[in-house]
Amino acid sequence: MLKQIIIGLIFIGIGAGGAVLYLQNQAPKQEVHVHGAEYCSKHKIAESECPWCDKSLIKKMGMCPGHKVPEALCSRCNSDLIPGFKAENDWCAGHDLPESQCDLCKAGQYPPGEVPKGS
Ligand SMILES: [Zn+2]
Ligand SMILES: [Zn+2]
Ligand SMILES: [Zn+2]
Repeated sequence: MLKQIIIGLIFIGIGAGGAVLYLQNQAPKQEVHVHGAEYCSKHKIAESECPWCDKSLIKKMGMCPGHKVPEALCSRCNSDLIPGFKAENDWCAGHDLPESQCDLCKAGQYPPGEVPKGS
């Protein structure tokens, strides 16, 4: 009889221990690294890489030789910038480019959306 009680207590102990371990394992996963001060929530990019909040980045990084736009604003080199352009309402959905960099639209030949992209 006593033996059964002891075995019962051991199982309860294992159960509780397991639950504690489970909770301890869960806790770190919920802590997705959100460092409010370092993350620009408006432009969905690290504050230190946000060319809209830190305009000095545009000068500092110079031009993108491949795309003839400021490197800090080159969405083709850094697709992380795309949500920022959208937040700034500077995005040409028709050509998958920032509106301010979209030669096709600037030329006034093709309204966005009327030209198959990539052509
Ligand atoms: Zn920003
Ligand atoms: Zn580029
Ligand atoms: Zn366009």
